[in-house]
Amino acid sequence: MNKKIWVKVSYILASLLVFGVFLYLIQIPSAKDFLTKIENTTFDLRQNIVSKHKKTSDKIVIIDVNDASYEYIVDKYGSWPAPRAFWADLITNLEPVHPDMIIFDMLFLKKHKADGASDFELIKAVNTNKNVYISMNLDNYPPEVRIPPQLPDALKNTIENDFLIKQNPDLSYSNCRPVIDEILNGTKNIGLINVQRDKDGILRTMPPFSYYKGAYYKHLTILAGLDYLNIDKNSFKMNRNGNIALDKKHTLPLTKEGKVILNWYGPEWSFNYVPLWRTVEAIKKNDRKFLEDNFKDKIVFVGVTANSLSDIKSTPVSYMFPGVEVQATFLNNLLDNNFIKKTSVFFDILIALLLAVLTGFGVMNFKAPMKAVLLFFGLQAAYFVISILLMGFFNIWTGLIAPFVLSILTFIAAYVVKYLLTSRDYEHTYKLAVTDGLTEMFNHRYFQEQMTNNIGNAKRYNSVFSLIMVDIDFFKKFNDTYGHQSGDAVLRQVAQTIKRNIRSTDIPCRYGGEEMSVILTNTNKEDAVKTAIKICEAVRNKEFELATGDWTHVTISLGVAAMPENGDTTEKLIEYADKCLYIAKRNGRNQVVSEAPEDTPTE
Ligand code: GH3
Ligand code: MG
Ligand code: MG
Repeated sequence: MNKKIWVKVSYILASLLVFGVFLYLIQIPSAKDFLTKIENTTFDLRQNIVSKHKKTSDKIVIIDVNDASYEYIVDKYGSWPAPRAFWADLITNLEPVHPDMIIFDMLFLKKHKADGASDFELIKAVNTNKNVYISMNLDNYPPEVRIPPQLPDALKNTIENDFLIKQNPDLSYSNCRPVIDEILNGTKNIGLINVQRDKDGILRTMPPFSYYKGAYYKHLTILAGLDYLNIDKNSFKMNRNGNIALDKKHTLPLTKEGKVILNWYGPEWSFNYVPLWRTVEAIKKNDRKFLEDNFKDKIVFVGVTANSLSDIKSTPVSYMFPGVEVQATFLNNLLDNNFIKKTSVFFDILIALLLAVLTGFGVMNFKAPMKAVLLFFGLQAAYFVISILLMGFFNIWTGLIAPFVLSILTFIAAYVVKYLLTSRDYEHTYKLAVTDGLTEMFNHRYFQEQMTNNIGNAKRYNSVFSLIMVDIDFFKKFNDTYGHQSGDAVLRQVAQTIKRNIRSTDIPCRYGGEEMSVILTNTNKEDAVKTAIKICEAVRNKEFELATGDWTHVTISLGVAAMPENGDTTEKLIEYADKCLYIAKRNGRNQVVSEAPEDTPTE
């Protein structure tokens, strides 16, 4: 096969293998979890970078119960939580400066403190001010602990084609913490504040809808967000791509778990914050300007940030993130329509393949490994930068880990292929360098090398080895009779005959012209002579094919020398074998001679 095609075929096969391994790997649950974990970490990293350039909305302000406010309330009202009338007062005093919305990230539960008069104040404030929103929370307590309450129809929603939400059991609840009955039945501004963290404890996603007793309920921020956008909606529809359109401009892109991925802003505490105690003091002092400056036409969240009250979440941008700011971020994402959209697995695998192919291409084509390594890291770095830009400008989360893992696998596979091919090349080159082209025996250089090696070994280990010299009889005449082409053909066939009659550890060589030699490692003279005779007879009995297609016989003469008895250098051993060969020729050819007297002349 053409070498270039061979390279391509091996590379494609290796790549397919790698891709198969990769697909297999990402199916194993523990591997999948592990990869998801790292992918999430890269998301956090990207969020940390891009969030610094994302501004929160000026529209949103948070009245936070910070540690100082907590102390303030305990000091002024005796305990936390403050009596319901306190919150009623806050509402009624803020309303005159016309905030757009007042959203309580707090639960006003049914059985909390028996203070009917105080509860009544709050009920009145919440039910009469249509821009006040309060929270409720679903959970899974068994009915023995609490009988699951009925929720009013006004809060119920339907979702058409809800498979993503339905297939996540975590979005279905069996119980609900009941808020004060009169509020529950008196306003439809009650939304869920359920949150869910990922397996690593970090909060990256929020559920826009949760399921309870046959209906969907809106998250608090979805409820408020829709009202703010003047969208009156209780029935929704999810499209094929998992998106729920709220109106022409605003969409909830759902993950496979039926949630939205939050897009974080700036450093934490980047929303406008006014501590609760400052607000209350301003109200007390009737500081209208302060209240208008801070709350007029604003979406006002009221929530806890005090460490001592611990509503703190871990998020991609901070390990100590106020829960109320999570809700504010959720609403801000909704209003700016900038939820994070995750690319499909299909897209990620396509990118992975592209990077893997480029990596493999680099490995196969760059001679210097350093260049291939640089290309690998260069590609990964470039893709990382692109992924940051995509997240920063288009709110898109492209998978990083799948392409990275596939590229590494390809890198390794490409190197293995390359190594195998190079070693094949090397073997091939080496074979060429030591082989004689006509006879495919080892060449003269290799013969000399092996003689030296064998003499060295024989000396070191006190062992033996033998040498047979072979010369074709009357070959000059043969050439003259049948032509050089037939001479070559016969030479080749004699070489083959020799090879077939020796052991695999013996070394057949073309000594030069029509002379051949065999080095018989670890073989004494007696055995070498037996081999020589076997070769002589094999040639004698064989018919050789000529270039013309005719058949004929040839004979050979052989001389045998052995170490140590006939010499301990290459020269002496060759000389001895040559003398034997001379005697064989003189004695009528077609025979083996292994003894040569001192005074035998050489040719
Ligand atoms: P003998 O060995 O029996 O004494 O007679 P000879 O005719 O074979 O004599 P010698 O070994 O000296 O002859 C060598 C001849 O072998 C010379 C050349 O024509 C032939 N010869 C050597 N190398 C090759 C070769 O590669 N191809 C062919 N066709 N002939 C070769
Ligand atoms: Mg000769
Ligand atoms: Mg000859």
